[in-house]
Amino acid sequence: MKTQRIHTPIKAAELINKGEVVAFPTETVYGLGADAFNEEAVRNIFKIKGRPGDNPLIVHVARLEDIKRIAKEIPGKAMALIDAFFPGPITLVLKKRDEIPDIVTAGLTTVGVRMPRDPIASAFLSACNNPVAAPSANLSGRPSPTTSEETLRDLEGKVPAILTGSRSNVGIESTVIDLTVESPQILRPGHITKEEVEAVIGPVGTAGVINRSPGTRHTHYKPDAKVILLKGDIKSKLTPGSVLFTTLSKPEDFEGDTIDLGKGPAEWEHNLFLALREAEKRYDTIYIEFFDIDESNRGVADRMLRASGGEIR
Ligand code: AMP
Ligand code: MG
Repeated sequence: MKTQRIHTPIKAAELINKGEVVAFPTETVYGLGADAFNEEAVRNIFKIKGRPGDNPLIVHVARLEDIKRIAKEIPGKAMALIDAFFPGPITLVLKKRDEIPDIVTAGLTTVGVRMPRDPIASAFLSACNNPVAAPSANLSGRPSPTTSEETLRDLEGKVPAILTGSRSNVGIESTVIDLTVESPQILRPGHITKEEVEAVIGPVGTAGVINRSPGTRHTHYKPDAKVILLKGDIKSKLTPGSVLFTTLSKPEDFEGDTIDLGKGPAEWEHNLFLALREAEKRYDTIYIEFFDIDESNRGVADRMLRASGGEIR
């Protein structure tokens, strides 16, 4: 199969409406989409990515009224989050309507709903007949792609088309929050922080992260290189021929190769996945200068921990 690069959202939507699988840009990461009501098309997403069947997909919409086609009910707190953050990098887990095929939600009775802010994503989704089910556009287990080139590198020959857009602004996947339980739970940390969510709906928990969000159980975000997080006296722990991703400061008179992830959580998020995917081409070991985790950096810290398998030296 020859993978076509498409530059017109409507053309990409026509393919989706015909039951094809198409990659598209969003502000979080690139997605791999199919018509959420077309079971066969959604099945192909799992095949193409090599994604485990127990890992649910997020359903994407461009219009608020389309949420009603996916979710049975929209509780008050969900409505408040929609007002505050849609369109944007947040996914609301709601009770699923029966019309959504089970394969989309990996058999769960709930469904993740998101409205991307990226204008190309929005134009694309508006032109699709139905909401679009989409996980990230990486092959399963790899860091998510944040550019059309990196998307092509994983999916060339595997999908009919990639809708080409700009580099993803945010750079890590959406914050996922479950609103089907008595006290809302953050299932996956992201750019929108716990504090920002709590400012809108009051206290939320994070207890469910591992158990209730299936994707967080699987190996994830791993490039084709070993990733090790470093703290303390970084310079003494580096090995030759490796690369160091810097976050807080470059070690003094350091001679080895470095990639600067930028200053602060938003820049680290923006740069991390692309840096991992660039560095895997040239290095066997990637060191990342790690930092103390707090609510402002929890999303990017989570991706770093999972890329490294949790190894901190
Ligand atoms: P991806 O965007 O590729 O990282 O995949 C979507 C992720 O969203 C999944 O791995 C889950 O962690 C989460 N998710 C999607 N739908 C649900 C749901 N109904 N319940 C809990 N988590 C969900
Ligand atoms: Mg993913």
